[in-house]
Amino acid sequence: MDKVKAAQELVREALAKSQSPCFTCSFQAEDVVVLHLLLREKPDLPVLFLDTGYHFPEVYAYRDELQRRLGFRLVNLLPELSREEQERLYGRLYETDPNRCCEIRKVGPLFQALSAYDTWFTGLRREQSPTRANLQPLEEATLPSGHRLKKVNPLYDWTFKEVFAYLAVQDLPYLPLYDQGYLSIGCAPCTAKPLDPSDPRSGRWAGKGKLECGIHLHGEA
Ligand code: SF4
Repeated sequence: MDKVKAAQELVREALAKSQSPCFTCSFQAEDVVVLHLLLREKPDLPVLFLDTGYHFPEVYAYRDELQRRLGFRLVNLLPELSREEQERLYGRLYETDPNRCCEIRKVGPLFQALSAYDTWFTGLRREQSPTRANLQPLEEATLPSGHRLKKVNPLYDWTFKEVFAYLAVQDLPYLPLYDQGYLSIGCAPCTAKPLDPSDPRSGRWAGKGKLECGIHLHGEA
């Protein structure tokens, strides 16, 4: 079976077994492939976006363009503190304590939202990072609250090239930042172009000794 068929089948089977599925989407290229596969099966699926307030303007514009085009159910997750409130209280945490910043703006809001779901679809791929090299198509995640949910990674074995080939075949737009040389795109203050061309995530939190924001590291079985 080719990878597109295998991913579509995985999505279909996981949705059939789920009472309350959701998808976390940061609108990177792989996310848009998974989004497209999911919407074919379940057009009303909640699409969770972690709106940290620190994304590139291009990401917000692309999110809205894609939402208009595909008509999905966008759930914008906001942290308790606005960006301005956080900076007034703690300064530029993304420089001084990025783990705490990610905890406040990503991990906390996401884990709170995920407690309403039994199945969590992602756009993770093994090739993205050494921390993802052992990624499995089906995993289990346990939140700090003890809530357990299935985690489904339909593109676990896809390459960067295969992701962009899918977008081209389906005539789906991609984030314009890729054309500027970005290969992995998160919050603007913590995203640079890759320092090592063979490691797409080497521009994320560059020089801060950090590889992940934390949402994919907690309590996986
Ligand atoms: Fe803050 Fe950077 Fe984490 Fe975004 S990626 S939440 S700006 S530390």
